[in-house]
Amino acid sequence: SAYVFHFGGGATNTDPRSRDKTITGGKGANLAEMAGIGLPVPPGFTISTEVCTAYNAAGKTFDEALRAGVAAGVAHIEKATGRVFGDPANPLLVSVRSGARVSMPGMMDTVLNLGLNDITVEGLAAGSGDARFAWDSYRRFIQMYSDVVLGLDHHRFEDALEIAKEDNGFFADVEMGAEHWQALVGQYKAIVAEELGRPFPQDVHQQLWGAIGAVFDSWESDRAKVYRRLNSIPHDWGTAVNVQAMVFGNMGETSATGVAFTRDPATGERAYYGEYLVNAQGEDVVAGIRTPQYLTKAARERAGAKPLSMEEAMPAAYGELARVFDLLEAHYKDMQDIEFTVEQGKLWMLQTRSGKRTAKAALRMAVEMAREGLIDEATAVKRVDPMALDQLLHPTLDPSAAREVLTRGLPASPGAATGVIVFDADNAERRAQLGEEVILVRVETSPEDIHGMHAAKGVLTARGGMTSHAAVVARGMGRPCVSGASGLSIDMTTRTARMGTREVKEGEVITLDGSNGDVMLGAVPMVEPELVGDFAVLMEWADRHRRMKVRANAETPLDCQVARQFGAEGVGLCRTEHMFFDAGRISLVRQMILAEDEATRRRALDSLLPEQRADFTAIFEVMAGLPVTIRLLDPPLHEFLPHGETEFEELSEATGLGVDHLKRRAGELHEFNPMLGHRGCRLGITFPEIYEMQARAIFEAACDVAEKSGEAVVPEVMIPLVATRRELLILRALVDRAAEAVFAEKGRTLEYLVGTMIELPRAALMAGEIAEEAKFFSFGTNDLTQTTLGVSRDDAARFLGPYVEQGIYPRDPFVSLDIEGVGQLVEMAAVRGRETRPDIKLGICGEHGGDPASIAFCEKVGLDYVSASPYRVPIARLAAAQAAL
Ligand code: PEP
Ligand code: MG
Repeated sequence: SAYVFHFGGGATNTDPRSRDKTITGGKGANLAEMAGIGLPVPPGFTISTEVCTAYNAAGKTFDEALRAGVAAGVAHIEKATGRVFGDPANPLLVSVRSGARVSMPGMMDTVLNLGLNDITVEGLAAGSGDARFAWDSYRRFIQMYSDVVLGLDHHRFEDALEIAKEDNGFFADVEMGAEHWQALVGQYKAIVAEELGRPFPQDVHQQLWGAIGAVFDSWESDRAKVYRRLNSIPHDWGTAVNVQAMVFGNMGETSATGVAFTRDPATGERAYYGEYLVNAQGEDVVAGIRTPQYLTKAARERAGAKPLSMEEAMPAAYGELARVFDLLEAHYKDMQDIEFTVEQGKLWMLQTRSGKRTAKAALRMAVEMAREGLIDEATAVKRVDPMALDQLLHPTLDPSAAREVLTRGLPASPGAATGVIVFDADNAERRAQLGEEVILVRVETSPEDIHGMHAAKGVLTARGGMTSHAAVVARGMGRPCVSGASGLSIDMTTRTARMGTREVKEGEVITLDGSNGDVMLGAVPMVEPELVGDFAVLMEWADRHRRMKVRANAETPLDCQVARQFGAEGVGLCRTEHMFFDAGRISLVRQMILAEDEATRRRALDSLLPEQRADFTAIFEVMAGLPVTIRLLDPPLHEFLPHGETEFEELSEATGLGVDHLKRRAGELHEFNPMLGHRGCRLGITFPEIYEMQARAIFEAACDVAEKSGEAVVPEVMIPLVATRRELLILRALVDRAAEAVFAEKGRTLEYLVGTMIELPRAALMAGEIAEEAKFFSFGTNDLTQTTLGVSRDDAARFLGPYVEQGIYPRDPFVSLDIEGVGQLVEMAAVRGRETRPDIKLGICGEHGGDPASIAFCEKVGLDYVSASPYRVPIARLAAAQAAL
């Protein structure tokens, strides 16, 4: 069947679709690929992602073709293993796992040991000669299946196990014998019957279809939807299902299971990295019930741990594993994240995929793999997710600061975070929405906690290793995480926790160091990141491959400095209204805005002129000859008006005008829709003296700096919110007059450009005409999105969430450009602008200038530069290089 692809066990599968992630999912495609290069993969089959989409579209029903395909798939596994599904004497057991194109927490993960029932368990016991193993497998199966397929709460099963151990006087699971597990199975079945009103399914085929349906259903779960929304994964991808013969890591001391990375996913070091457990099944490693052991001797010794590493305890199987690691890296040319099982000394590969990694590790691996010759420089540049750089561009703990360490855990995800303690995900989300920085503190995390982890600055757990849910998800999200802090215990009834010897309450401030596992009381000072080493190397490679320039949106000398440190090649947007908010000036600005006649306004402007000149002087000095685009005032008027009694009283004192008078004047300026009101160039048209003052300040500053430094300063004066050619013509003439006046006074001239923002649909439509007056266009995609979509950028947050969830817009259009819609306007304006003025300079300065997908679009339409906020400059540099490759 085209829906079902066989792998392993000598399957001759030549259909390339079987290795296509879009068809068989990440897990299925890689299983087929591994089997294809001769690695030991237990035989199995993959149901394709299209089936999931069809199943959900057809009201959750399976069609005949699928039934036939699954039957053939089961027959393939039976033939390869010599076992029979449901056979009383020689039963085949399978695992059932989901596998979307990308790994996706929030979905049904795995059911193991499927095919066990009251009869086959006896066959398994007899066949393996190990009754304890058989009954242990059966109880695991009932619990897992009940949890993920039947939707029963796992706590009742866990409680029953605890009570059974207590009743027998046992401390650990390993003390349970065959008869104890058998008795527990009886209890488990009773729990199912009681909760469900029907017995645990004994028919193995019913079990299998139940699990397949559960995988498909989990694609539609709320958790999966939240994850897709946060990660921009389309809802129509669907998931594949992998059904595979079981191999057992729990068949005694020569068996084991583990997870491994071919390089260290936290640091990027070229060293095998991982954890394993003797006599265990996969979920034991992830669940953190038993403490996993080190894979290599070196790692064990470095940690000063006692239990033998796999390298020491199982040298033959370890040697085979190391050989597989090298084969996989050479084949995939990337770091692999692997799940394996050793069954009575024989190694089996259960999964491989490109491993998630921290930004630091991604950088190091990309640079080192290029140096090793495994990949080329361009591939290295493409390898690092630009957004992941965000993790590296933020402050870390000041190494010289005092630390009051409460407890320690594993350094599961690097970076530092300070915030208030919260004990549950909902609370974390709520408090974060109120603007608080929170640290989510949990015993362990599960997919239900994802929204809280996302809202939190950092995550701390009491349980779980480096591959626990908390660790994996936090690394993926770029949240610092300390996991497995054994000195931490949480009391949810009193909402307090013990950390080491100290009791802390919800709401107290702690700091996490995800790079060494320290948990500290209070806020620890941070330092700015240093952009050296692998970071600098990769950035240099990126710069070599990019065509577009990268500038920064910056309005203070400090922002400009940060931007230059991050590699900005100019200022793409200096928003002058931000300078007006300065505490010392706001009163003057208000006087100017509220002035009722030109003379009063000019008085206020005269006082503002030296301040503006000083602003621009400082910026030109920092930018040292690089281009600086200064946008003339574009104020949302209401933001400048006084609010509240005290502000009116202060203004009254400064102006000598009565409070009532000022209030009446403010009332006159009130606008129903300030975003579409008296802003941008409309202000320059109605009160030209404001733009005159600003233009004068720009040219005076530019002349002064050019004089002092001897360097050329090329100001780019930008007129905002232009809709018509004539607006620009009038204001360009005004700027030119100011320039001439200043040049005459200073006795020197400067090169300068006058251009405009394209941020209204009319401006985009009329770009050909507008270009006659403009030396450059800068796309203000914030306003262009707002006005094209008719969606207020300030109010959108309230309703855009559901819009994205329902796929109306693939992503928040204020974060990632609506390429289909708004993109057309950008492209049209670029074309029409160039037709009029072939050398017109084109850039973008909306928030989208720092978004990789939008940057790729800018490359496609041939913009000359993107401008992003200073911390996003490196992201933009890398994204621009990737777009050009
Ligand atoms: C824009 O509209 O995209 C822009 C950059 O200007 P502002 O965000 O200041 O309106
Ligand atoms: Mg704008």
